[in-house]
Amino acid sequence: MNIALVAHDAKKELMVQFCIAYCGILSRNQLCATGTTGKLIAKATGLEISRYLSGCQGGDQQITARIAYNEIDILLFFRDPLVDRSKEVNDIEMLRLCDMYNIPVATNIATAEALIHGLERGDFEWRNFVNKIKQDIY
Ligand code: PGA
Repeated sequence: MNIALVAHDAKKELMVQFCIAYCGILSRNQLCATGTTGKLIAKATGLEISRYLSGCQGGDQQITARIAYNEIDILLFFRDPLVDRSKEVNDIEMLRLCDMYNIPVATNIATAEALIHGLERGDFEWRNFVNKIKQDIY
């Protein structure tokens, strides 16, 4: 599965702790992240992560573009609920596209835990069929 990881500044440490806790499961998947989030996770865990630009440089939009191609199977996006709401436009677009393609998404650690356990159980194997059908269309 392709898993995208994004964390606002106030949630980066939590994301790192989450990735340490679930390093084993995450290591069996393809990971990508926005720049700083990915750097911190890679440093703390040694996980292999494709890193995009930093969020403020367009990394969020790069991940959003992959979501638009239905290439992301799970999005773990630890949002800071106190972030300036005028800066939420890109976040909302990323979440909107997850809804468009039925991509499982967690915006906080409680839901992320549920998704990661579901991933381990194989609950999202259907994503492989969705992606296969899409590749056949191209
Ligand atoms: P970052 O981007 O991981 O590069 O900080 C995430 C964000 O949008 O805050």
